[in-house]
Amino acid sequence: MSDCIFCKIIKGDIPSTNVFRDEQVTAFRDIHPAAPTHILIVPNKHIDGVDTLAGEDEPLIGHLFSVAKQLAVQEGIAEKGYRLIINTGEHAGQTVNHVHLHLLGGKPMQLMG
Ligand code: 5GP
Ligand code: ZN
Repeated sequence: MSDCIFCKIIKGDIPSTNVFRDEQVTAFRDIHPAAPTHILIVPNKHIDGVDTLAGEDEPLIGHLFSVAKQLAVQEGIAEKGYRLIINTGEHAGQTVNHVHLHLLGGKPMQLMG
């Protein structure tokens, strides 16, 4: 997806503060952090969102969560707790149409809704 900002970040065409990379996912710090730790964990292949996930993507999505869990330990937020979010569509406030898992922590969170 040539016009996708996260594809550009993954390719290295746009600078980002990367905290993890393997053959399946890239994780980098959110440019507008909503918490002391705010990391985006993003599949290296373009998928618009949860709505367009295919059955074959199930292991990939599981891997996003495994990486999130590892990064929470690395960031020192695992013990106190953290929040994982995937926004999907307009009402959820999805602004980048490349599926991504938010890892938020480092302070008590507000209730959702
Ligand atoms: P969404 O609202 O789609 O769930 O989350 C998109 C997130 O991407 C937002 O939290 C936003 O701050 C972040 N973001 C948008 N553009 C960039 C960028 O160019 N670099 C980084 N690091 N984060 C971005
Ligand atoms: Zn993309």
